[in-house]
Amino acid sequence: MGIKGWVENQGSRVLIDVEGGEESICSFANALQIEFPENARIAELRIDPQPFFGYPDFSIRTSAAKLNTANFLPADISVCESCMKEFNMPGDRRYQYTFISCTNCGPRYSIIGSLPYDRENTAMSEFEMCGACKAEYGSPSDRRFHAQTDCCPECGPVLKLLDSHGIAVDSSEPTKTARELIRQGKILAVKGIGGYHLCCNAEAPAAVQRLRKLKHRPHKPLAIMARRIEAVYRICEVSEREKAILTGNRKPILLLDKKTPEYLPKDVAPKQKKLGVMLPYAPLQLLLFSDDLNFLVMTSGNISGMPICFQDDAAIKALGTIAEYFLTHNREIKVPVDDAVVKVVDNHEVLVRCGRGYAPLTIPLESGNEILALGAEQKSSVCVAGNGFAAVSQYFGNLNEFQTYQAFERQIEHFQSLFHFCPEVLAHDLNPDSLTTLYTKNRAGHKIAVQHHHAHMAGCMAENKLSHDAIGVIYDGTGLGTDGVVWGGEFLTGSLSGFTRAGHLEYVSLQGGDNVAKEPWRCATCYLFALGIDPHEFLPQVDSAYLNVVQKALQSGIKCFESSSIGRLFDCVSALCGFQAKTTYDAQAAIELENLSEENVTAYYQYRIDDTENGLILGYEEMLNGILRDLQNHVPKSIISSKFHNTIIEATADCAYRIRAKTGLEDVVMSGGVFENTYLLERLISRLRDLNFKVYYNRLTPTNDGGISFGQAAATCAILKENDYVSCDSGQSNQNE
Ligand code: ZN
Ligand code: ZN
Ligand code: FE
Repeated sequence: MGIKGWVENQGSRVLIDVEGGEESICSFANALQIEFPENARIAELRIDPQPFFGYPDFSIRTSAAKLNTANFLPADISVCESCMKEFNMPGDRRYQYTFISCTNCGPRYSIIGSLPYDRENTAMSEFEMCGACKAEYGSPSDRRFHAQTDCCPECGPVLKLLDSHGIAVDSSEPTKTARELIRQGKILAVKGIGGYHLCCNAEAPAAVQRLRKLKHRPHKPLAIMARRIEAVYRICEVSEREKAILTGNRKPILLLDKKTPEYLPKDVAPKQKKLGVMLPYAPLQLLLFSDDLNFLVMTSGNISGMPICFQDDAAIKALGTIAEYFLTHNREIKVPVDDAVVKVVDNHEVLVRCGRGYAPLTIPLESGNEILALGAEQKSSVCVAGNGFAAVSQYFGNLNEFQTYQAFERQIEHFQSLFHFCPEVLAHDLNPDSLTTLYTKNRAGHKIAVQHHHAHMAGCMAENKLSHDAIGVIYDGTGLGTDGVVWGGEFLTGSLSGFTRAGHLEYVSLQGGDNVAKEPWRCATCYLFALGIDPHEFLPQVDSAYLNVVQKALQSGIKCFESSSIGRLFDCVSALCGFQAKTTYDAQAAIELENLSEENVTAYYQYRIDDTENGLILGYEEMLNGILRDLQNHVPKSIISSKFHNTIIEATADCAYRIRAKTGLEDVVMSGGVFENTYLLERLISRLRDLNFKVYYNRLTPTNDGGISFGQAAATCAILKENDYVSCDSGQSNQNE
């Protein structure tokens, strides 16, 4: 384009200084935004006028070492089309070679031990390139020029098939044998990109049932890997947007509406309207399918509740009682990373669980300090921020599991060493007993506690680039509030740095400590007790002795706590609608309640909002009485569920309306785990838009607690800025705990 100047890597950003005619500079700026490499992404583009220098040519400047601490890490990329062509081409030297990759595809994040991203710093360092691969690697015109994962059958990793004790099974073609075993109904553990999967034929009900039984996972939906997109059309409704996500290069698990009648066995995702589906992303997975094998269960290779297995010996030990065979290989996984889960809401891709292909998330975040945000206890993730960007890790699960806590600590160390990151500020939850707070004890650095629901709000605001005050509707499970009460149905007003509680769901006394979230009938009993109603009539499947015990405990206040958690209200209604067993996975009762709902119901129950000196109080009495009346009149549960959802939507919109009237705020930020409920989220979005609100919800980061670490980081940045906090390096004694 006849442009002169220079380009330089400056850590997280690229600086380009250009000189030339106006037209050529314009077309250069345009081209920059359109013609970039397949896996590049422009997070932000800024153009500033500069004084004329008179450069003689265009040069690539060597990066200044001090600035070269990028906090970008490439995510794992599914096999590309060019590689697929070679993979399927008999005679090609990589024909059916399951570690085929190129500059545009292959594992990245999961194999990187340290930065910069060069082969010697990855799991590929074990494999010395053969002559042919070396030649490709060194040739600028080759599509594998500087491809750090370049290898071939001569020089690269190899597959092996093992039995459940880890003893090699004699097989010249391990994938062919594996496929045959799957066809016979066997369960296999298959080493993928970020860890092991447990795999079986999804069309074989007996295999699916056996997998569930052995994994102690009776109800939680299992993810499906379909052979190709055409197969997905047979089992699910797929929009254009959804097709693009399925076939794109990140290959997450996408939640899709099942077709009716259901094609796959009911046990794959019982009582769900949606099914999690992905397409093969590692070349190895492609070879597991055949004309009569189009759908595989591909569930995380872990013991339920534990982190995904990624090391071979540990996997055999942990999964040997579930999997009959192991299809594995000798390329090490450095960073375990589970599959990501996404869905389409309001015609946008929304991240439900951060994992392979998405991790680490890189989100612009202005920060003068290096911040480590420790996230939530459940659906844990960590976030490091500094240098203009935040990097959010994959999710780990529940930190109360020791192995999960270890994974969390490992990831923090890994981020610190990768980014040469020394956290000056640690952000953690307000709850002094939370594991994230305990982690900060005896660790150096300024510490900032962020209230859980403010973190939800701040994260949603920051990813939507909202810096002014807004209304936050935070519908969640639980988090400790500033008044010492367990919050979770919150109307906040405020900004990234602080908030006022503008209202909340009326407090109820819940009994039973940690059991409350796992026993929805307990929530129902507590709510009915608050209304002075005997629970026995409405909870016929629960042992009446249990009900009596809870009632007595409520009367005398034993193991009771106040709560405004709307998640627990959903549990209560789900129990009234028939979910009276213990849950076997997180949020099961609320999820099944959503799945009962019907599209075409518009009715809702009466509700009450009190305007008090403590803000708006959304009462539950009227709506619960409406539900009980409908139950006594034998109204179908699907109608009751829809009416309850609609009530929450109406009441929420009403509260937002009243808060706007008081404050003049027109932006509504919706976040919190309860907004995983698509029925609730989509209808509330359109209801609020009808009322001329500007509506924001989580897309880049999960609305559930997986997004908390980013929210804590965003809030902390703003708090530090507002308090003129200066880095401790500057010698100021600005530290207070
Ligand atoms: Zn490729
Ligand atoms: Zn080679
Ligand atoms: Fe939460």
